[in-house]
Amino acid sequence: MLLLIPGPVQTRPEVRACMAEDIAPWDEDFIAEYAAMRPRIVQIAGGLAGQHVSLPLPGCGHMVIEAAIRTFVPAGEKVLVVRNGGYAERLARLASAAGRVVVPLDGPDNVPMAPEILARALEQNPDCGHVAIVVSETGTGIINDPEVLGPVIAAAGRRMICDAVSGFGVVPFRMADHPECDVVVFTSNKCLEGLPGFGFAVAPIARLEACRGQAGSWALDLADVYDHALRSGWGSFRFTPAVQALRAFGKAMAIYEAEGGQPARLARYSRNRDVMYAGLQALGFTPYVAPEFQGPIIVNVYQPVDPNWNLATFQRGMKARGVILSDFSSTRKPSMRFGCIGAIGEEDIRFALKQAEAVLEAMRVGTRAAA
Ligand SMILES: *Cc1c(COP(=O)(O)O)cnc(C)c1O
Repeated sequence: MLLLIPGPVQTRPEVRACMAEDIAPWDEDFIAEYAAMRPRIVQIAGGLAGQHVSLPLPGCGHMVIEAAIRTFVPAGEKVLVVRNGGYAERLARLASAAGRVVVPLDGPDNVPMAPEILARALEQNPDCGHVAIVVSETGTGIINDPEVLGPVIAAAGRRMICDAVSGFGVVPFRMADHPECDVVVFTSNKCLEGLPGFGFAVAPIARLEACRGQAGSWALDLADVYDHALRSGWGSFRFTPAVQALRAFGKAMAIYEAEGGQPARLARYSRNRDVMYAGLQALGFTPYVAPEFQGPIIVNVYQPVDPNWNLATFQRGMKARGVILSDFSSTRKPSMRFGCIGAIGEEDIRFALKQAEAVLEAMRVGTRAAA
């Protein structure tokens, strides 16, 4: 099966093979293996040894996002959430359910947040100490670029929280260049092409030390993950980890590094995206995002208005031909998304486009453009 979804992504057989063994996470061999992963994660985040640390947390992306918000935003304090997509709405919900006060900055869901709009919002909200952004909005494929928004946040004297889950390792960002950044979060199973089971945060040591004891949770306190490492070592765990997923992640990082790291992976995904974007247009679809705003992670198109169109039928037809697509959309207007990430290349995208053409013909969907 070819997974064309924005996570969990298609993985390589060497990565999946890491799941085949029983492992004791507290065994000294695994402790060394795990401890060695942590500085590599900091390096991928563009952090500095001695200034930044990686904080793995078993679970999914939403859990590590909640942990990041709890750890760095004190309870009852305001966080401005750039809310221009479905994942940003989820982040806002996580924050308010955790007792943080969300000040939403809404924007159209097919355009990245403009720095001048954010600057004005920060002027109008001097009591928002933090700004949370979704870097690659996986609902649509736009990029809220932390290289552009970070300096605005820094100039206003505020702190940045990045949900980098869907673009981490691909969208260029170096934590060391962004002292305003409290934390970047991501998971094992997106652009780094590991298996699901772990979330990660990378954060400055100085900020973790300043934010001890305010999470209002033990399980989701990143400062406690840090303190545990100081007390018990960088290869130790607080609780039972998804240990096979962690070993697989180590393998996935080795493959990432061998491929050439961030520039190489961005180049492969950009090529996937270009073939997908052009191919979907050639099939008659209307892109949800204009080319100048289209990121490398997913391509989203409007669902056709043709009376024969049905997303579930299309998705099942694609699955019967070996391609798994998302069966839902989180956009303001009905759309569907095609992932460009994972252990796939442009030949896989061409294969999927060919299957899409056949399924559309079988469904007799003549009109594929947006209304
Ligand atoms: C995938 C993703 C998440 C986390 O999803 P989980 O299902 O909780 O792992 C969060 N934010 C973005 C932008 C994502 O793409």
